[in-house]
Amino acid sequence: MTIPAQIVFTADRLQFVYQSAPARFLQNLEVGEVGWGMADSGLFAIEVDGERIDAMHPDLVLQAVNQTTPAVGQTQTQLTFAYAPLQLTIDFFVMTYAGATLCESWIVVKNHGSAPQTITRLDSLVLHIPSASYDMLHYTGGWGSEFGPVRGRLNGDVRLETRAGRSSQGMHPWCTLWRDGRSAMSVSVAWSGNWAIRLDEQNDGGFELSAGLNEWAYFSVLAPNQSVTAPKVAWVLNDNPSLNDLAQQYAMIGRKYWYPHAPLADAMPVEWNHWWTYEDRAINEEVFRANVDVAAKMGMEVCALDAGWFGPSDPGTHWYDYRGDWHNVNTRRFPSGIRALADYTHEQGMAFGLWCEIEALGRHAEAAKQHPAIVATRHTAPLGYVCLGSDAGWQWAYDTLDRLITDYAADWIKLDFNLDPGAGCDRTDHGHGAGDGLLCHYHGYYRLLQAIRDAHPHVVLENCSSGGLRIDLGLARQTHMAFLSDPDWPEHSLQLFWGAATMLAPDALLHWGFCEWGFADHPQQTFDPQSTALTVSQLDYYTRIGMLRRFGFSQGLPTLLPWVADRYVQHITDYKNTIRRFVKYGVLHHQTNQPRRDGTLDRYAAFQYVLADSAESLLAVFRLPGAKPRRVIPVTAIEPELQYQLTWLGDNRVQTMAGADLVNGLYCDDLPEPGAVMILIRAIRSA
Ligand SMILES: [Zn+2]
Repeated sequence: MTIPAQIVFTADRLQFVYQSAPARFLQNLEVGEVGWGMADSGLFAIEVDGERIDAMHPDLVLQAVNQTTPAVGQTQTQLTFAYAPLQLTIDFFVMTYAGATLCESWIVVKNHGSAPQTITRLDSLVLHIPSASYDMLHYTGGWGSEFGPVRGRLNGDVRLETRAGRSSQGMHPWCTLWRDGRSAMSVSVAWSGNWAIRLDEQNDGGFELSAGLNEWAYFSVLAPNQSVTAPKVAWVLNDNPSLNDLAQQYAMIGRKYWYPHAPLADAMPVEWNHWWTYEDRAINEEVFRANVDVAAKMGMEVCALDAGWFGPSDPGTHWYDYRGDWHNVNTRRFPSGIRALADYTHEQGMAFGLWCEIEALGRHAEAAKQHPAIVATRHTAPLGYVCLGSDAGWQWAYDTLDRLITDYAADWIKLDFNLDPGAGCDRTDHGHGAGDGLLCHYHGYYRLLQAIRDAHPHVVLENCSSGGLRIDLGLARQTHMAFLSDPDWPEHSLQLFWGAATMLAPDALLHWGFCEWGFADHPQQTFDPQSTALTVSQLDYYTRIGMLRRFGFSQGLPTLLPWVADRYVQHITDYKNTIRRFVKYGVLHHQTNQPRRDGTLDRYAAFQYVLADSAESLLAVFRLPGAKPRRVIPVTAIEPELQYQLTWLGDNRVQTMAGADLVNGLYCDDLPEPGAVMILIRAIRSA
C-alpha cells in the first residue's frame, strides 16, 4: 500500500492535515486560521510495559491509511501504525462530519507477537495546544448536584476524571477551553466508566491535552492476536468563543448520527411516573390504575412503573436489597401481576414503562446465589453488579431484559444504576483480565443495549443512574434519553438543563417538572400541589421548566385540585401541539448564563429553540427568585426587516413586534417572581 505524504481529515471549516513523509508531524489542525495542535502533537498515546507510544514515537511506522464513508456526511480515516519492538499495531481512527468542526477519535491496540503485552494507558486524543491564556469550564457531579460549573483560568496541570466507575459521579466527562477569549475547544469522553481529561503544562507555556480511558487501576494483558478498543473522544474546535456554537455541534451530530431511534421515543411522549409520590411503600395496582385513568384523561402518553414492583412481598423487605430478582413480582402490591397493569395502560391508549436496574445485584438477591458466574467481584468481594464483561453475565442480562419486555409488553424501560463500581471486576474467569473488567463491562453494556434495541426496535430505553450520575456520549448512543437528576426543584432543574444541553440535544434529555415528594426528605423538594397557597404563576414556572426537554410528571394525579389538573392539561396540550417539535428539531441557544441551585449566578434563565428555516422559534424565559424585575433577553434568528408575531403559549397573549426592535432583545418587566413564559415567535412574511 502506498501511504500518501499528506493525510487529509479536513471537513469544511476544519483544516486537519497530518504529514506522513518524509517526517511525521501534525501539519495543520485549525478552524478559521486558529490552530489547536502543535506539530509535535501525539494525536493518541498508549503505555505498554512502562513505555509511552504516540504518533511521534521514532520507532512507529505508518503501515496503512484507509478512508471510508460509514454514512452520508461521515468520513472515517484509519491510520494503522506498527510498533515493531513489541509487535503491536495501533489503529488510530478519526471520524469527521460534513458541515461540522467536530471530530471523534479512538484507538484499537492489537498484539501481533507471541508474547503477552500489558497495556496500562489508552488515550484516544493527544494534542499539544499552543501557549496562550486559557479559561476552562467543567462540571462537578454528585447525587442531586449534577452539572456544578467550575470555571477559571488554566494555571498549571489539571486533571479531570472519575474513579467511581460511572461517568458523571464526581465530574462530568466534558470540558471547554477558551483561548485568549477569542476561540474555543470542547472535549467529551464518550464513555460511561472511568475516564480522564488531562492538561499538562509544557515548557513552551502550552499544554498537552490528553483524553480517554482513566489509567487509574487499569491494565489490559493482551494475549497474542488479542486487541483492546479505547473509548471514543468527541472534540469540537471553533474560531469564536461561543459556547452555543460548540453545544450546537454536539447536538447536531448527536441527532444525526449518534442517538438511537424508536417510534415511541421519536414521538416525544408526555410521561407519568409513579415514583416520587408513592415510592415503593405506597404503590400497588389499585393506585397505579387510578393514576392511569387520570393520566389518560389529561392527555399523557406513557405511564411508568418504577421500583417497588419486584422482589419478595414481605413488607419488611426493601427493593434495593433484591435488585436482580426480576423474576419475582411483589404479589402483595400487584396480585394481578405486571402484565395486567401493562394491558390496562394499553387499553387506556397509553404506552407502558417499567423500571429495571439490570446491572445491579442487591445483597439479598437470589440471582447472585443462583448464578454465581455473573457476579462482579474485586478481591473476591461482590461489587453489587452483574459483570457484563463475562459471557454468563451478558447472556443473563440479555435474557432477563428480553423476557421483561416480552412478558410484560413493556414499551419503555427505565434503566437505573444505583452504585459505584469503582475500579470494577477483577475476576480472571470472566473472559476479561484482572485490570480491565470495568472496560469490558461497559463494552458489554453497550453491546447489550444494542442487542435489545435490535430485538425490540419499538422499545424506548431511558438512561438513569441515581438520577444523573452516568450521563455521557457513550450511553447517549445506546439509550433514547438521559434522566438528569433525582431532585427537580426549579433552580436545580434549570441549572441541570443549562449544563446538560452543552453536550446533549434537548430531545436526548428527560426531567420532570417539580415533583410531589410523598416520602423522601429533601429541604428543597417541598412542592405540594394541593396547597391552597399555590398560584398559577408558580405552577406554570414549575411545569414549564419540565417542558424544556422531554416532559413528564411524577405526582399523584387522582388527588390534584381541579384547577391544577386543568392547568396541566393546558401545558400538556401546548407541549404536544407546539413545544415538542421545537425540543426535537430546534437548534438550542442558551440566552443567559447558567443559574445555580444555591441562588447565585444568573437569576434569569432563557432558552431559545430555532427551527432550521429560522422562520419560527420558541423562547422560554424564567425569572428565578431574587431576580431583578427587568431584564432584556437576547433573541436570535431575527431579520430586522420582518415583522414578528409573538404568542405567549397558554397565556392568551399575542403581540406583533418589528424585527428591528426584537433584534435588540425582548424586554421583560412583567414576569412574576418566580415566573415563566413560553413565547412562540413567527415571522410575518407579508410585512
Ligand atoms: Zn468480571
